[in-house]
Amino acid sequence: MTDRISHWIDGKPAPGTAGRSGDVFDPATGQVRAQVDFAGPAEVARAVAAAAAALPGWRGTSLAGRTKVLFAFRELLEARKDELAEIITSEHGKVESDAAGEIARAIENVEYACGAAQLLKGGFSENASTNVDVYSIAQPLGVVGVISPFNFPAMVPLWFVPNALACGNTVVLKPSEKDPSAAVFLAELLAEAGLPDGVLNVLHGDKVAVDGLLEHPDVKAISFVGSTPIARYVYETGTRHGKRVQALGGAKNHMVVLPDADLDLAADAAVSAGFGSAGERCMAVSVVVAVEEIGDELVAKITERMRRLRVGDGRDPGSEMGPLVTRAHHERVSSAVDAGVAEGATLVVDGRGVEVPGAEDGFWLGPTLFDHVRPGMSVYTDEIFGPVLSVTRAAGFGEALDLINANPYGNGTAIFTGDGAAARRFQNEVEVGMVGVNVPVPVPVAYYSFGGWKDSLFGDSHAYGPEGFHFFTRTKVVTSRWPDNSSAGIDLGFPKNS
Ligand code: NAD
Repeated sequence: MTDRISHWIDGKPAPGTAGRSGDVFDPATGQVRAQVDFAGPAEVARAVAAAAAALPGWRGTSLAGRTKVLFAFRELLEARKDELAEIITSEHGKVESDAAGEIARAIENVEYACGAAQLLKGGFSENASTNVDVYSIAQPLGVVGVISPFNFPAMVPLWFVPNALACGNTVVLKPSEKDPSAAVFLAELLAEAGLPDGVLNVLHGDKVAVDGLLEHPDVKAISFVGSTPIARYVYETGTRHGKRVQALGGAKNHMVVLPDADLDLAADAAVSAGFGSAGERCMAVSVVVAVEEIGDELVAKITERMRRLRVGDGRDPGSEMGPLVTRAHHERVSSAVDAGVAEGATLVVDGRGVEVPGAEDGFWLGPTLFDHVRPGMSVYTDEIFGPVLSVTRAAGFGEALDLINANPYGNGTAIFTGDGAAARRFQNEVEVGMVGVNVPVPVPVAYYSFGGWKDSLFGDSHAYGPEGFHFFTRTKVVTSRWPDNSSAGIDLGFPKNS
């Protein structure tokens, strides 16, 4: 008997009725731990109807009332974060300390949303024209859809849900079908925090559920995070159906190491950012660009550190890197390594065939390092999304910069140097949305916004922070005059200020 993971509609579990479901694995054992219901059109309609029915009440709830729920939610998350970390690890595989980091960054976003009363203030211009006042108000969009990827099953939903709710919207969340339990746990906590029924609904499933949301006339906006081909599809389909869409896609993040950098610090950073969460992060470093003559020394330092990494079950506090999320993903990443070898990249550390005693069926792939990788090789061009780090060499700063700017992705990048002028030039000229200076994983804090450039984001709003509030509201400007004698008389001319 495996567990069954059902939708969450109108404040309670809603077992699937479409007769479709998917396996949810424990990646460390390779066993199926649960079946998750996949929504069909009728369940999409039910979830959206529940969100639409809850909209007038939630939109009409005062700012104080909405933020009270978010403050309570924040406390519950804090109190039950260990439980949530266990859920994440059991379905995703990342080590629990990493899951705890994900939750901490998620909580930041809840805290930001708790500032809604300040963030939703409009402008007011008294006497813009004689006896005429002008003011702006930010109003919710209505029912919004959030579609999230497997790699941050709690944090990515919480990039969007708290801000959307704070702004007065109701939400249908479609989490990844690979690790869906965290989303249900979040919905339960929000209900406990006092969120009225129907304000947040969780719909599980695949393309059928996503298409249902993209096409539904009552869904006014979509926030999507996932791979670039699906992000592009979601953006094009959603906007064609008249929706506001922000669709964040994949990445190939370069870390440039200049010759003056402290190579020990740079090697630490490359290993942490390349293999944390088994490389299943959109902000993972996947390419190290060694500038000038430092390549061999840097590769030696990275290799030495990689050999000490402990791969194992994420529930074991001794593990530093867990398994990949599914068998299919494991096969895909292993094939990418095979392709790198076939194309002539130098395989310095081979993670294929790594074994974890007592857990032979887990989806293990050890840290893998390629050197002398060149643009055009598939290990360079493809987003591998696994523990595979490539090193490429550049003759100078300009060549490193050109390499990054020629890449179709533009999510994150980092430069390691002690040279302030070089770092300033880099941040100015690099065509990437999030830049680290001696910081390998520059995920912005919750009061900035998160988003890449080029093929890493479709739409014009980044996620969370100020752009998140902007995305989840539409502004209305009111021009008002209280009648007095000065406004008497007929004037067919276009209104002008006086
Ligand atoms: P994915 O694109 O396979 O899935 C993302 C979501 O889309 C899931 O909810 C999934 O059910 C749905 N989906 C999958 N196939 C679909 C289809 N054909 N039609 C409609 N919907 C579909 O991504 P993933 O494997 O879950 O996550 C990994 C990817 O997400 C990587 O490419 C990673 O870079 C990216 N990611 C990006 C960011 C960012 O902020 N830019 C953050 C996290 C992850």
